[in-house]
Amino acid sequence: METPPSKCYEKARCNHCEGAGCIYCDKTGYVLVQAPACKCRHCEGDGCIYCGFTGWAGLKGKYDE
Ligand SMILES: [Zn+2]
Ligand SMILES: [Zn+2]
Repeated sequence: METPPSKCYEKARCNHCEGAGCIYCDKTGYVLVQAPACKCRHCEGDGCIYCGFTGWAGLKGKYDE
């Protein structure tokens, strides 16, 4: 019953560089975020410390173990 939902990620375009590539997205222009991708509620996509300046909530890696 208590099986934790397996996390699934999707690619979202980095809002900081809008796909051009920057340090926040490892120069790929995209970041992996928890699906369904939703904008950071702190900055609404503008980028802040909570979303690693990508504008997305649930960024993979940064806040996962
Ligand atoms: Zn970027
Ligand atoms: Zn943010």
